[in-house]
Amino acid sequence: MTDEVCSAASLSSMIKSSTPGSEAEARQPDRLCKFCAVTPENGFTIEESDAVENGLIAFHVKPRPAGKIHLLVVPRDQHITSVKALDSSDFGLVLRMVRMAKRLLKEKGFSEEKQILAFHNPPSVWQLHLHAIGLPWTESEKHHFEKSNPRYVTASEQLGLLAEKGFAK
Ligand SMILES: [Zn+2]
Ligand SMILES: [Zn+2]
Repeated sequence: MTDEVCSAASLSSMIKSSTPGSEAEARQPDRLCKFCAVTPENGFTIEESDAVENGLIAFHVKPRPAGKIHLLVVPRDQHITSVKALDSSDFGLVLRMVRMAKRLLKEKGFSEEKQILAFHNPPSVWQLHLHAIGLPWTESEKHHFEKSNPRYVTASEQLGLLAEKGFAK
């Protein structure tokens, strides 16, 4: 079972990396993308940057956080436009993003019930970013994260969608 999953994932990444203009190529950092250049010099307040273990970076949403705390978790050093560009082989990446978001919120004292983890599809910025919000809400920003908002996708819904794509292969 595990071997099947692994070989399906590595096969799809081999196909990707051997195809000109492929997804793998498109994932090089894009110098025109503001979330590919998350540095203090560019005005970001970085919460955590993990190049080695997870290849992720977390920073604070300013000036209008949607909650008491509002972080974005993005892949470091690779440009991925949005959840639409994700395949089942990205399940692990999204899981690492979710784990980092949950850990950071927990470390700041937000229990499970006070954590909101979500994507937007389509997003407002074309670099894959996971919203990690600690409640209570900022009332003026809350509507971006309501179930009635058609662009709103929870992190667990997104993981489910990727898992389904894997099963469909
Ligand atoms: Zn980017
Ligand atoms: Zn967003």
